[in-house]
Amino acid sequence: MPQSADEQHNKRANNGDKQGYQVIPDAQLAERTTFGVPARAHWLARVMDRDAIPELTADTQFQSLPRLILGGGSNVLFTRDFPGLVLAMENRGIEVQTRRGKHDRIRVSAGENWDQFVRWSLDQGYAGLENLILIPGSVGAAPFQNIGAYGTELEEFVDAVHAWDSEAGEFVWLDREACAFAYRDSIFKRHPGRWIITELDLVLPRSGTPRIHYPGVRDMLDKLGVDKPAPADVALAVETLRRRKLPDPAEIGNAGSFFKNPVVNTSKADELKHDHPELPVFALEGDRAKISAAYLIEYCGFRGTRSGNAGVSERHALVLVNYGGAKGSELWRLAEQIRDTVESEFGIRLEPEPVIL
Ligand SMILES: Cc1cc2nc3c(=O)[nH]c(=O)nc-3n(C[C@H](O)[C@H](O)[C@H](O)COP(=O)(O)OP(=O)(O)OC[C@H]3O[C@@H](n4cnc5c(N)ncnc54)[C@H](O)[C@@H]3O)c2cc1C
Repeated sequence: MPQSADEQHNKRANNGDKQGYQVIPDAQLAERTTFGVPARAHWLARVMDRDAIPELTADTQFQSLPRLILGGGSNVLFTRDFPGLVLAMENRGIEVQTRRGKHDRIRVSAGENWDQFVRWSLDQGYAGLENLILIPGSVGAAPFQNIGAYGTELEEFVDAVHAWDSEAGEFVWLDREACAFAYRDSIFKRHPGRWIITELDLVLPRSGTPRIHYPGVRDMLDKLGVDKPAPADVALAVETLRRRKLPDPAEIGNAGSFFKNPVVNTSKADELKHDHPELPVFALEGDRAKISAAYLIEYCGFRGTRSGNAGVSERHALVLVNYGGAKGSELWRLAEQIRDTVESEFGIRLEPEPVIL
């Protein structure tokens, strides 16, 4: 371990965190991911101030090393130690910027917790984010895969994403179009490591009609005795549904949905629907349809199965779980087995949703 550099960095960090970051050598990452698998980073940099990024990234010590940006670790799977610099964005702050008619622009820092930010927005009387409640992780990671749930995706509220562009060596901002958002995808995901997202500008309406068409939401509102739902009612319905369906990472390690719902052309979807009338199919624009990956996995008999300390959740066939003590490589082996079985049964190759390292 390069002790001298370590001492030097920690001294700087201990000097009142003047640089706004702290560097830790040989850092354990298990507690920083929701899968909780063991993995060490050669270096971990906690970034509390975005203005520290230029100095940190220019440090010759780190320049030649592979780099990974880490938020809440709820969408990554480490299959081995990381031989480079892990950059944890921990900058905080929420600022209401301008009023635009019936909307406000809110700037929120990457290190804020997404779910807490959604709850803050509801407390302030904003509408729009209620369906995205209880998604784990940081604000900075939300644009990376254009988080979505219960019929809402982040992209519709994005005004701009602020980032450090590692290629250009400067702070930049990207408007919504430049972010090239798609289903669980964005320009950030297509060029991992290039942009370190520092803040997100969202435009939120001060009132709005809640979106309750997603299966289960209306029924849950009925159960809760709500006739004309306000955003907070929809948030409660979604939260209740999510708590029932998804295992809590605080209790059992997981990263939510492990595979994306595959998108196929309509003739393939029709063919599958003919053989499997119960398969959920969602029509998309053009000649395409999204089909349920959970159905395909469940059909192949994986729901509730266990292989060593890795397994597939009893509650949801899309969720891989760490029963305790599983290694990332063990979970990945199980994922490969699922992917290969589904492919030989249905001719569809599932893609993982988390980033596999
Ligand atoms: C129980 C559970 C339920 C979930 N439900 C949903 C859901 O309903 N919908 C959904 O979309 N997702 C869901 N997820 C996945 C996950 O919560 C989201 O993808 C979330 O946005 C990840 O945030 P994070 O901070 O944990 O990111 P991390 O896991 O730390 O990182 C994920 C990726 O984003 C990159 N990244 C992180 N921060 C930055 C940054 N500041 N700048 C640039 N890149 C960055 C990382 O490099 C990595 O490639 C769920 C996960 C769990 C565990």
